[in-house]
Amino acid sequence: MPLLIPPYYLSLADPDDPKCPIRQQCVPNIAESREVAGDLCDPLGEIRHEVAPMLIRRYPDRALLLATTTCAVHCRFCVRSRLVGKSDGYSSLSVLEPAFRWLENNPEVREVLVSGGDPLVASTQRISSLLSRIRAIDSIEVIRIGTRVPAVLPMRIDDDLVQMLCKHHPIWLMTHFNHPKELTTQSRVALRKLADAGIPVMNHTVLLKGINDNADTLESLFRGLIRERARPYYLLHPDVVTGTGHLRPKLASSIAVYSKLMGKLSGLAIPRLMLDTPGGKGKVQIGPNSIVSMNPGSTELLTYRGETVTVLDP
Ligand SMILES: *Cc1c(COP(=O)(O)O)cnc(C)c1O
Repeated sequence: MPLLIPPYYLSLADPDDPKCPIRQQCVPNIAESREVAGDLCDPLGEIRHEVAPMLIRRYPDRALLLATTTCAVHCRFCVRSRLVGKSDGYSSLSVLEPAFRWLENNPEVREVLVSGGDPLVASTQRISSLLSRIRAIDSIEVIRIGTRVPAVLPMRIDDDLVQMLCKHHPIWLMTHFNHPKELTTQSRVALRKLADAGIPVMNHTVLLKGINDNADTLESLFRGLIRERARPYYLLHPDVVTGTGHLRPKLASSIAVYSKLMGKLSGLAIPRLMLDTPGGKGKVQIGPNSIVSMNPGSTELLTYRGETVTVLDP
């Protein structure tokens, strides 16, 4: 995947520290040429689950529309490195028309996740046309937009863009902050603008080895997000993308880091720890396991304090 870093995001990186969490997310590393057991080019089986060009459906009530293959930054752990930066970007509405028609013919799908690529790298006018076309499908109730722009190019969240998004409500915005260093004055302003406009903001964080896989870093990130009214939604154990093994913590280590946050952090600030299963079988919540034993009439639960409590269930 080619290198792409906006000057703003690069300015957050430490030029003297090879372990800088910003730098490791966006600067290519020789370890990307290494493949480990289980690595896949399309880890989530998206090619197999494509029901129309650029439309991926893995769940009964929601589908994912890849509106573009362009992003503001190329994250080195990208799940779609097979596509991103490899073609000329935003799909025209005519290219996406079969996807819209598929949605019209499958009204059990009530939610469209507009992603890519990053849908917010286009002009406001272009995004507006896309959202209008989706809104013309009666069965679509909710539009979700997946974007890293508030974290990597926050000045793009301008008043025109926010006002336009509001015209297509209900819109939910899914951001992607991975490290407290990304919570700058500018990115906080962007988050506040979205919240002030009544757009719920949910955040995905990818757990990355040597970048954010410790409880203190995540605590500071999640506390910072809820201060700006952005809700930590998922903490994702990384996908098995070819060439990203050096950034993947062990699963047990992800669960251990997450366990340290439980109870310590407000429920508002705690995301769910998730793993998207290889092959596209869907996302699974991965612990920690709070049920110690379950018997007829009584269940033993493990609290965040490490104590076992028996709950009677006559
Ligand atoms: C992750 C994903 C979703 C959304 O899953 P939620 O658990 O609802 O956030 C939907 N479709 C596809 C293809 C996905 O990868």
